[in-house]
Amino acid sequence: MIVILADPTGLCFGVKRAIEELERSINSRGKVYALGSPIHNPQEVKRLEGMGLVVVNSPQEVPHGGTAFIRAHGATPQAIEELRRRGCEIVDGTCPFVRNVQEKVAFLSKEGYTVVIVGDPDHPEVQGIRGYAVGDSFVVSDPSRVDLVPSCAGLGVVAQTTQKEDVLAAVSASLVPKAKELRLYNTICSATLSRQEAVRRLAGEADGIIVIGGRNSANTGKLVSIAKSMGVDVQWIENADELDWGGLEGKEKIGIAAGASTPGWLIEDLVSRLRRRSMGG
Ligand code: SF4
Repeated sequence: MIVILADPTGLCFGVKRAIEELERSINSRGKVYALGSPIHNPQEVKRLEGMGLVVVNSPQEVPHGGTAFIRAHGATPQAIEELRRRGCEIVDGTCPFVRNVQEKVAFLSKEGYTVVIVGDPDHPEVQGIRGYAVGDSFVVSDPSRVDLVPSCAGLGVVAQTTQKEDVLAAVSASLVPKAKELRLYNTICSATLSRQEAVRRLAGEADGIIVIGGRNSANTGKLVSIAKSMGVDVQWIENADELDWGGLEGKEKIGIAAGASTPGWLIEDLVSRLRRRSMGG
């Protein structure tokens, strides 16, 4: 059995940067309160909790004067304002790609466009981005949902950073009859695009693919759906213990892809177990 690793794969620059920032803060302050899970990977969150991380769901749960961490997904301006009111020190790990979408939404709103975000309405990044719209805003997950958006003079469209390009294109096309002016920013991040492209290449050469990453990770889920759409056999696991060895029987080339929030140590563990097995160990 040959094991091929997608290239690039695993931690993206935005998550890596945020986690390094978080580790530095914990090391210097002891206890840091993250507004929402700082990384969509349960194993990595557990490791950070062992160091002093406390995950909270709202700014009100951060003690007055405490240190609050904003994850790579960002947060609403309202949440940040509430942390300031509580006298918290804010460590901002918002990914620059997410910051760019927030700024685009604020700009489009200011210019009078009705904002449409192409993404998952329940995803924290999307909820944070939406907080930057001052007027009406709508979240559309796929072209069948454009009926949510009313006809208006100007629509300003952005995408969740982990969106698939074909979905952004299809939603945007469906919005054309709804507005005299359509202003579109392709805000899908380059790390997402390159990882999606890598999994497409991998699906073309492997006869089975293992995608490793949190089941709550949007970008990992997209890698799984891309691989499946290419007809290759796919296993989605969070760690090597979940591997279905029976499902790999008879396969000669196994591809491995990891979500942008999957830490390197989980990928290395998976690769070494597969290589040991392929050598009869
Ligand atoms: S997937 Fe892209 S936008 Fe999201 S944290 Fe990583 S680099 Fe930033």
